[in-house]
Amino acid sequence: MSKHLTSLIENILAPDSNLSFDSEKLSLSMRGTEGLESFENKKRQIMAVITLSQSDEIKALLDLANKCATDDELAFSLYPISTGQNWGYGTSQPAGLSKNIILLDLGQLTNISHFDNELGLVTIEPGVTQQQLSDYLQLHNYNYMVPVTGAGPDCSILANALERGYGITPYTDHFSAVTSVHGYWANGIPYQSAVYELDASEDKFVDKTFKWGLGPYLEGLFTQSNLGIVSKMTIRLAKLKPDFTSFFIQMQEDALLEEAVPLIRDILQDYEGIVGSINLMDQRRLLSMFAKKFNANDAHQVMTNQEIKGLAKELRTPSWTIVGSIYGSTRIVSAVKKEIDLIFKKLPCKRIYSNSLSIILANKVINNLPAKLINKLPTLAKISEQLDSFNKGKEIMLGKPNKVALKLAYWRHKESDNFNKNSLSPGKDGCGLLWYAPLVPMKAKKIREFVEFIRTTCPKFNIEPFITFTNLKHDCVDSTIPIVFDLSNPKAVLDAHNCLKALVEGGLKKGFVPYRLNIDQQQWLLNKDSDFWQTVAKLKTSLDPHNVLSQGRYNPT
Ligand SMILES: Cc1cc2nc3c(=O)[nH]c(=O)nc-3n(C[C@H](O)[C@H](O)[C@H](O)COP(=O)(O)OP(=O)(O)OC[C@H]3O[C@@H](n4cnc5c(N)ncnc54)[C@H](O)[C@@H]3O)c2cc1C
Repeated sequence: MSKHLTSLIENILAPDSNLSFDSEKLSLSMRGTEGLESFENKKRQIMAVITLSQSDEIKALLDLANKCATDDELAFSLYPISTGQNWGYGTSQPAGLSKNIILLDLGQLTNISHFDNELGLVTIEPGVTQQQLSDYLQLHNYNYMVPVTGAGPDCSILANALERGYGITPYTDHFSAVTSVHGYWANGIPYQSAVYELDASEDKFVDKTFKWGLGPYLEGLFTQSNLGIVSKMTIRLAKLKPDFTSFFIQMQEDALLEEAVPLIRDILQDYEGIVGSINLMDQRRLLSMFAKKFNANDAHQVMTNQEIKGLAKELRTPSWTIVGSIYGSTRIVSAVKKEIDLIFKKLPCKRIYSNSLSIILANKVINNLPAKLINKLPTLAKISEQLDSFNKGKEIMLGKPNKVALKLAYWRHKESDNFNKNSLSPGKDGCGLLWYAPLVPMKAKKIREFVEFIRTTCPKFNIEPFITFTNLKHDCVDSTIPIVFDLSNPKAVLDAHNCLKALVEGGLKKGFVPYRLNIDQQQWLLNKDSDFWQTVAKLKTSLDPHNVLSQGRYNPT
């Protein structure tokens, strides 16, 4: 980077902001779980990292980037990240391959600028993490839930909504809960809604309460795109209800899947607003949460059916587990729990509720036993570990972030046992992970077809077929297939990428279409000449005439 450009940037940065060329910092930012570098044989690179301390610097930097764009020596582009933990989709790496990218780290913008306790509306900056919002709510005794995800406490709430991510608290679809966005288009023009602009009152509050604004809906253009940078957003939080229970329906027979699907759909339709999202997980996926590393000598192979049988027996894991939650007053929770129990009684299954006496007692017993004793007795240690995961899963459904789900990313890591479970960070720790996250029609036949497709495709590439379905609504289900691999093994990296490609290409023929893509797929899968992407290209030319922002992100060229 030229001295002239360095001084131009330094001149506009606030004293607490930072322009860094530190090679360690740069290489850490380029470390992803995806193994893109060795697979693609294309090298992504960044010139520098700018860490901002004030959100109004965003505009100054965009203006500078546009001003410098036509000068060969000074031209640069910006790639914003909030917490940069987009594991499996790119982590903190830029999508584009050009040489003059500056990573714009918004992680220090952690202001919670507004909270309305009456309405449950919170306004946050990009760097506000799930844990920070959780601490804030707890500190002020506000009875609302954080829109948590499996990615855990250190991830940005705003960036997850921009990726259109989802969780399993009552407001499952995170961008749906966003009521207001403020930011800047890539050309430097500020964005606020037409409602906000028209409002002549002092606090301009009403904008925070209404998602759709007035006139064309533009806020969606900030999501899964490269047209602007969001500096703050308002999110509607779900209220913590007086009572709650989670339910775990365990089915031993794989063949019961087809019967379970319509029951899940009915529950979501009939108890909308009371039952949160529902997850359906297969046996291997559940084992990945509880089983110790299995084939330590050659990690790049799937467990055989015989091995699965043995593990499932030892850890008492069923073929399918349905996980959901009931929120409401004590009477409502009790009544709906009875209804759900009745519905699932139609199937041969075991029904477990987090508020049942047996779980409460088990927790009491384990909590009162000395840790030394638990660790000495393997069976007790296993029960204690399973109970801990069960309790942490319950915390997540109540909007309290934790790292329990992150363990999945370490399944094929050679040193998976050596990491402290409280400080897991898959990108920094060298985990190998890609996601295949297609939408699947919520129909029993299609779900079965999908399961067979995954179970036949993944093992061909030595990838464990872990299956989860999450209902975003009764009619909309997304499956997340984690492609977990050993990042230090080049053959495993190649297999993982070929597996993802086979899944995506084979899946499209069957009508399974991803809802979200990693930074490599955003180029090879999307057809720049299609009507849709041609329209996006026109928007890009208009809002980012000099192509200074997030080159290549959801923008095939
Ligand atoms: C085990 C595991 C479980 C996971 N579970 C979930 C889950 O339940 N749900 C889920 O959705 N994801 C999940 N993930 C995937 C991912 O880690 C999360 O979605 C995570 O929140 C994304 O990272 P981030 O919040 O740090 O976003 P960032 O990496 O900061 O941002 C993501 C992208 O958004 C864009 N962006 C960020 N900030 C801005 C801004 N201010 N303006 C414009 N563009 C911006 C950038 O292009 C950036 O690359 C999981 C990952 C793992 C490993």
